[in-house]
Amino acid sequence: MPVDSLLCRDVHCCNRSDIDGLNAFVNDITQACLAAGEASLPRAGRVGSTGHIPGWNDVVAPVRDKSIFWHNIWMECGRPRSEVIANIMRKTRASYHYAIRKVTRNANDIINKKFADALLHNRGRDFWSEARKLRRSNVSVSSVIDGISTADDIADLFASKYQTLYTSVLYDRSEMESIHCLVDKSLSTSFDQHLIVGVSDVTNAINKLKPGKSDGCSGLSSDYFKHAPRVLAVYISLLLSAVLTHGTMPQEFLTSTVIPIPKGKGLNVTDAANYRGIALSSIFGKIFDLIVLHRFSEQLYSSSLWFGFKAKHSTSMCTTILKEVIAYYAAHGGSLYCTMLDATKVFDRVWNTVSCLTVCFAGIFQECTFVCF
Ligand SMILES: [Zn+2]
Repeated sequence: MPVDSLLCRDVHCCNRSDIDGLNAFVNDITQACLAAGEASLPRAGRVGSTGHIPGWNDVVAPVRDKSIFWHNIWMECGRPRSEVIANIMRKTRASYHYAIRKVTRNANDIINKKFADALLHNRGRDFWSEARKLRRSNVSVSSVIDGISTADDIADLFASKYQTLYTSVLYDRSEMESIHCLVDKSLSTSFDQHLIVGVSDVTNAINKLKPGKSDGCSGLSSDYFKHAPRVLAVYISLLLSAVLTHGTMPQEFLTSTVIPIPKGKGLNVTDAANYRGIALSSIFGKIFDLIVLHRFSEQLYSSSLWFGFKAKHSTSMCTTILKEVIAYYAAHGGSLYCTMLDATKVFDRVWNTVSCLTVCFAGIFQECTFVCF
């Protein structure tokens, strides 16, 4: 263990060996976790589509049971070609196949109706179980993107597109420097208790991690942390306390793997524009995020009309409300006017200086040292 780096209490420390020590410590923890996981974590195959068809239990299952019942009777009667039994068998079989086509065609409407019913009857658990089923829906990807077919070239294509996108909003250098000055003035000039991350902070954050989430780079997943002995939380608490003291992040925390996933069903998956990037972040970084969110949850409030990237909220909630309002007016008559704002890739084109200022004014830097990302 890099004892000097971990126990350093100088908030102005710029000692390169301390920073290198923290980087090496993260690397050692990662390798120890990987070795322990290799020996003890069970491995399972990749989870694919659940095969769940919306509306199956309500619409298809009853007619399927009826169809199977009459099919068995028809078999026992010696498979007659033209008798009453045969007609009933054919009719119930047709009903069964019709029900499958019906739920397949109306899958989105059935899902939306279940959302609405869950909201209407305040069945919170049903609502979120429907949301989880919706998220699990499997959308296939293409082996040809924008006319390119080799894996390396496709990866380069997306890398180039994301590089352009994430640097598309320029910022004024002097404006950013003035923000740095503002932050510097807010920082503590000496070591204080706020810079200490307790073992309980880390344990609580690890408990909040979702199981089975990979970091996409080192090979670690949240399971390694959730099943680790308590001593890992002790190491991470020492590490994060040293990170806050030195105001710098180990390289491992900053590495994200961006994977493109299709934006939805029914789109042309050979077009790169129909994919959006999802960043698989370091698990250490996620633990740090959860600790910050927990400590500053009171300052980090948002509008009640904000639905995305928020605990116990989903953008499906507001789109469902919109669709229900439209359905109401469509059913009852009257005029409905709607204004749409196209905020394409709004979270990718972040105005850096404004987001920094927003965090400053949230009061976070009054209590916590500035960590450079
Ligand atoms: Zn130091």
